[in-house]
Amino acid sequence: MNKAMKILIIIALVVVVSIVIAIKQQGKNSASAPVVAANSDTVTAVENLPRLVDLGADKCIPCKMMAPMLDELKTEYKGRLEVAFIDVWKKPDEAKKYGIKIIPTQIFYDASGKELFRHEGFFSKEDILAKWKEMGITFEKTTSGVPVFERYVYRPAMADSRPKEQICYMCDVDINPKTLVTVKTEKGNVRLCSPHCYFIMYSCLTEDKTDFEKKVTVTDFTSGAPVPLTEAAFLAGTNKNGRPTIQAYANTEKAGQTQKVSGGNIIALEALKQNELSHRCGFCDRACYPQDAAKVFVSGIATWGCCSHCALGVAARTGKDIEVHEKDRLTGEPIVVKTINGSIASLEPSTAVAWFGQRQKPNGTWGSAGCFHQGFFTSVENLKKWVLEQNPRETGKLISIHQALADKMKLLPEQIQKACKIGECSPK
Ligand SMILES: [Zn+2]
Ligand SMILES: [Zn+2]
Repeated sequence: MNKAMKILIIIALVVVVSIVIAIKQQGKNSASAPVVAANSDTVTAVENLPRLVDLGADKCIPCKMMAPMLDELKTEYKGRLEVAFIDVWKKPDEAKKYGIKIIPTQIFYDASGKELFRHEGFFSKEDILAKWKEMGITFEKTTSGVPVFERYVYRPAMADSRPKEQICYMCDVDINPKTLVTVKTEKGNVRLCSPHCYFIMYSCLTEDKTDFEKKVTVTDFTSGAPVPLTEAAFLAGTNKNGRPTIQAYANTEKAGQTQKVSGGNIIALEALKQNELSHRCGFCDRACYPQDAAKVFVSGIATWGCCSHCALGVAARTGKDIEVHEKDRLTGEPIVVKTINGSIASLEPSTAVAWFGQRQKPNGTWGSAGCFHQGFFTSVENLKKWVLEQNPRETGKLISIHQALADKMKLLPEQIQKACKIGECSPK
């Protein structure tokens, strides 16, 4: 190496060090990162997309290594993830704005512009995608041809401002005070819309169920007065769609008065419990009504999927090829999915898509919103109509049925074991 070369390298090093120091000092003055990086030609502020901003320089080695990966992310997830690169050597003001200390630094923002995470140093494409996933945000490749349709909590079609006491803990519908069921827990009462939702919860309990029923109060359908579950009489019937209905009464006489008018069978708790727990989800084991469930065939034997995603989960749970018969949640039109070796073998109609209902957890990450918020649709149009017109409080996104199956197939055996037994189904 000649002398001139050595001097050049030393000058380059001094420049790098001083820029890092300059960035550090600027960072100290910056309270928080801006939501949208304005005045930057490298950033196009697309509204409502999760965003990854990489702050670096075109001459820094790790930044150079990241460049092709960022390009790939940009192309593969176009319309789903916004990827921006900012050269802070050329634009030192940007470094100050984002409050970074070293380059490269990657900042992850959710679609509302809230910073979720930042990483300092080289970060591979796989690491970046894994980090998004860890935070509950996954993307299907744009090249998959699946259209983008998402509704997250900061922009549902309609905000959910209902008081908590009014909403069923299991299914989120408004509680009819005449069919209310309450379960006493250490953290207060859990309120459910119906005896059916109570039995769904009961089927998900992993704790000792001895004396659990003593904690439960139902409501006399005529008077609206609370009745201990163990003392109530039940009137079981069906609605015009053939779906079971259950009303609780203080005693058999009271149930008999309604029975004279509307028909149905008066049954005691033990018989009701047996009926309610007789159909179970083949994936998560929770109680379901066949009228609500997807039918799943495994080696010619029929079982149920309490929701469409659980139905696909039967393939993961059994390790076998399955056939799922589900109904479009908007129109009731049939959708048939066949799997082979954990992949989709056939899909009827081929335009069918899935809704993946998601909910933000207290720690800010996004997870499944539970079985009541999942579904299949014969077309994107039906899905959008269901979300926007019929379920405007829904949050989540459109995914392909291939993706819905893949999400189940990658579950570990211990995750399958715990399916629905943790989190949303058991009382908290
Ligand atoms: Zn409910
Ligand atoms: Zn299930």
